Amino acid sequence: MSEKSNKLAELGEFGLIKSLHAKCRSTSSDVLIGIGDDAAAIRPQKQNTLITSDMMIEGIHFDLSFTTFHQLGHKFLAVNISDIFAMGGSPKHFIVSIGIPPEVKVSDIKDLYSGIMKIAKQHKISLIGGDTCTSPKGLTLSGTLLGSTKQPITRAGARAGDSIYVTAELGDSAMGLNLLQRSSRKVLKFSSSSPGLKLKKKHLLPGPTPLKNRSKVTSMIDLSDGLLSDLSHICDESSLGAVIYEEQVPVSKELIIMSKKLGLDPLQLALKGGEDYALLFTSPNNIRANAFKIGEIIPKGRYIVDSIGRKITFKAEGYDHFIKT
Ligand code: ADP
Ligand code: MG
Repeated sequence: MSEKSNKLAELGEFGLIKSLHAKCRSTSSDVLIGIGDDAAAIRPQKQNTLITSDMMIEGIHFDLSFTTFHQLGHKFLAVNISDIFAMGGSPKHFIVSIGIPPEVKVSDIKDLYSGIMKIAKQHKISLIGGDTCTSPKGLTLSGTLLGSTKQPITRAGARAGDSIYVTAELGDSAMGLNLLQRSSRKVLKFSSSSPGLKLKKKHLLPGPTPLKNRSKVTSMIDLSDGLLSDLSHICDESSLGAVIYEEQVPVSKELIIMSKKLGLDPLQLALKGGEDYALLFTSPNNIRANAFKIGEIIPKGRYIVDSIGRKITFKAEGYDHFIKT
């Protein structure tokens, strides 16, 4: 990608693809043909293949006034990785389709791909292809990630009596977004350890982590739309109910500090704020390392038990693209 040509219009689609080819060449032995031909070719895998797809649309999923292209590239692949982890799989091959508005600079696209490639390397993922188009308005990204698993873990396997777990503290990303929207400034470095900065980082650079010991896991989902919404998917698919204990929902000290400052309720952010990209799972085992137990699967009904023992019915509240709040 030539730094001399500032706008993509000057480099053209083929110039862009050529430079991507050079930058993103796969060295993985299971990729027979990567970027550069009419289709990619990969060797058959020993395990089952998982396929997931996620779109990110400017103005809906991201705001370039406080997101750098590098951060966007990271998050774009991270949200796809999170779906593969939610099925109990390992991510392998990524396909990227982009619609680019004419004003976007070549260096921006280069930054986007360096963000994608950085997290791809961390997880040993190969970028094997995609498609490139101009977009009359707004940047559009669509990613398809292939993964592998011996045994997919679905949303439908929960059983009454199972415990409900989450793998991380919740609500940080929602608070981070709130802070970013207030300041509308780009955070280029995260060298300071201020609570606000930590929360912004959680929003901009989510770090999905797989669940290591999955042998007794009965159902799993990643937390993208908010705890209540995502737990409702497990209840719906498993035809069961759930009870969660307010006091057991894990929240970070940074979230508590910033909530106090802004007069917000950290619990509401943990229950309904989305984009945590942690895992929510059920298991009959009562104690699990590296996860927080927040409740139980019950035959019927959906409740939150508050700090003084009251049972409050909950609905699937969280982010829904087609419902205006
Ligand atoms: P075709 O016209 O046959 O669709 P393209 O010229 O669009 O072919 O693509 C050529 C090669 O570049 C293919 O391997 C394709 O997968 C890859 N490619 C195109 N756009 C992208 C992109 N945005 N990211 C990664 N790979 C891409
Ligand atoms: Mg094409």
